[in-house]
Amino acid sequence: TNVGAITADMIDMLSKKSFPLCMQNIHVSMKQNHHMRHGSRLQYGLFLKGIGLPLDEAIKLFRTEFTKSMDVDTFDKKYSYGIRYNYGKEGKKTDYTPFGCMKIIMNNPPAVGDAHGCPFRHFDTDFLKQRISSNGVSKDGVETIMKYTKGGHCQVACAKYFELTHGISGSSSEVEMFIQHPNQYFENSQKLLNG
Ligand code: SF4
Repeated sequence: TNVGAITADMIDMLSKKSFPLCMQNIHVSMKQNHHMRHGSRLQYGLFLKGIGLPLDEAIKLFRTEFTKSMDVDTFDKKYSYGIRYNYGKEGKKTDYTPFGCMKIIMNNPPAVGDAHGCPFRHFDTDFLKQRISSNGVSKDGVETIMKYTKGGHCQVACAKYFELTHGISGSSSEVEMFIQHPNQYFENSQKLLNG
């Protein structure tokens, strides 16, 4: 629907407020390491396609970061194909669908050094707490989220995180929304922020 509306230089800003923690984490990791592993390129690349980032802008975004640690030729040889593949321009030419939460939570758990997966499922407790509170969630809010996480209710924890970071509920109130898909999270956030 909004294909073409999003450009590479908007991603950093959007990641801070409107990306779910799973995608924000991959983005932060890409900026730190100037690289992404396969699982992240798939999970994040398809998410970005889903929010309306066109193929040429996706290549620009990844090329800008990756070429801080490698030359342009290496990038083009090793990584352009995969990005075009995500957009159905290579291989089987399938228009791949962005991953939903269940797939991210249940499949292909991240190994050491990987940035993909669901933080509410795959982060260790202290790291998750630290990340959530550095995004402005109060101490009480962090405790509430951790309670859901410990009970295995990742998507409820994610919904609570959404509500708290968008000022739509307090830390002790019931969770109102249900997060099924990272792209749904993004759309809900943009709707709220842009009216
Ligand atoms: Fe991402 Fe879904 Fe996990 Fe939220 S619950 S962090 S949207 S995978």
